[in-house]
Amino acid sequence: ATPTAIMVGIGRGATAGLLFRNASALERAEHINTLVVDKTGTLTRGQPVVTDVEALAGHDRASVLQLAASVEQGSEHPLARAVLDAAAADGLALAAVDDFRVEAGHGVAARLRGGQALRLGTPDWIGADEALREQAARLAAAGRTVVVLEVDGRPAGLIGMADALRETSPAAVRRLRQMGVDVIMLTGDNAATARAIAAQAGIERFEAQVLPADKARIVEGLRREGRVVAMAGDGVNDAPALACADVGFAMGAGSDVAIETAEITLMQSDLSSVADAIDLSRKTMKKIR
Ligand code: ADP
Ligand code: MG
Repeated sequence: ATPTAIMVGIGRGATAGLLFRNASALERAEHINTLVVDKTGTLTRGQPVVTDVEALAGHDRASVLQLAASVEQGSEHPLARAVLDAAAADGLALAAVDDFRVEAGHGVAARLRGGQALRLGTPDWIGADEALREQAARLAAAGRTVVVLEVDGRPAGLIGMADALRETSPAAVRRLRQMGVDVIMLTGDNAATARAIAAQAGIERFEAQVLPADKARIVEGLRREGRVVAMAGDGVNDAPALACADVGFAMGAGSDVAIETAEITLMQSDLSSVADAIDLSRKTMKKIR
């Protein structure tokens, strides 16, 4: 039978917006000493906005944004929302595209109906040259996510997007550290952007350009070091890592897949709720002994 204290703990959690799937989730959260967090939507708000559109020779701002948005029509990525909103704000009509495809962790591609081949994604994936990389690095150093638009195999422009840190993230990271929990950030974004966001959040350890499949492998590796590893994420991409962590935290505003996979769902999508949940677990388990 489940001890009364655990039932009370689960009830307290529910009142505070910390939804434990079962007693064992509450029990296991006690020993968490490492928290792996996804950057986008967990540390940040997950609602990027376009801040920069830079056209390369032979193109202009409007055509870069219009073509980028035309490719993104088929995507559900938060970056796609940002590009589509920016195009709409500029009153740009989208072009019809065929052969849309997603290259997970890299970007998206499509073909204008009867016309040019388009790709939009990381500078690495596009194969940007030195000059373009430097242009991208300038935006990335300010914490922007940078994607390159390619038209028929040639770079045509750059789009920079900013995703604001959740206001609660720096204090939550400090508090977790005081609780003896190491916080490690993972992101599919590039290293310069990752470094800027990690610094803003007060996180020392991060890994950038992590492909979706690798998030789970990193969690596995940390567990093999003997750590008790929690993962906090919101995306479809995060589900495998949530599944192989000792405890998975899903952001309540996140994807259904993440919520179904995680053992604890946080109604307020922020890291201070992770600290609250670990705290509740520790206090509850102390009562039982
Ligand atoms: P995250 O860890 O932020 O969820 P993803 O693995 O989803 O990252 O994406 C990694 C990178 O791939 C993004 O930072 C972006 O540069 C590129 N990318 C992914 N999807 C898209 C898209 N729909 N449009 C443009 N770029 C994309
Ligand atoms: Mg994400």
